[in-house]
Amino acid sequence: MSKRILFIGPQGSGKSTQAKLLAKYLKIPVISTGDIFREMAPLHEWIRKILSKGKLVDDQSTSKVVEKRLREKDCRDGFILDGYPRNLEQIRLFDPKFDLVVYLNLPEKQVIQRLMKRGREDDSRESIERRLDRYFQQTAALLDYYRNLGILHEIDGAGEIEKIQNEIQKYL
Ligand code: AMP
Repeated sequence: MSKRILFIGPQGSGKSTQAKLLAKYLKIPVISTGDIFREMAPLHEWIRKILSKGKLVDDQSTSKVVEKRLREKDCRDGFILDGYPRNLEQIRLFDPKFDLVVYLNLPEKQVIQRLMKRGREDDSRESIERRLDRYFQQTAALLDYYRNLGILHEIDGAGEIEKIQNEIQKYL
């Protein structure tokens, strides 16, 4: 059974909900690089600065952090990664060798609607659109890469949580 899994999807696609459900089912952890960096931030000023500016951590440091995390015991039987890789250079530096890549897709219009509803302070239409532009720019190359490897599965993120989860589990 596939156990090294990557989740890709825009904010608002339900990606983290689906990743958590699948992780529970497979009894493997979800590793989120965003969470890792947020946890590291209080102890590391350089990370704190990057996060507060909304910039990306450099590829070298990121790949090292992920490689180290995936060597820990709880990842022995597999893992679900959320947030890494963000680009092809990161794959070159450290390749987690996924068995399966789940691309949870939602049309941009629906993503914007969902995020506007959420009503978080940084969720003005303008900032949502800016984040989404960056997201689609970053992920296009990754999607091509994994599509070429034949391990990418695109799943429609519109619909009920349970139905989507069932569909994801079909690909294991
Ligand atoms: P996220 O929760 O995925 O939006 O990540 C929050 C922040 O963590 C990002 O804005 C980046 O600063 C950093 N980060 C997370 N994953 C990566 C990555 N693969 N490469 C570089 N920076 C990352």
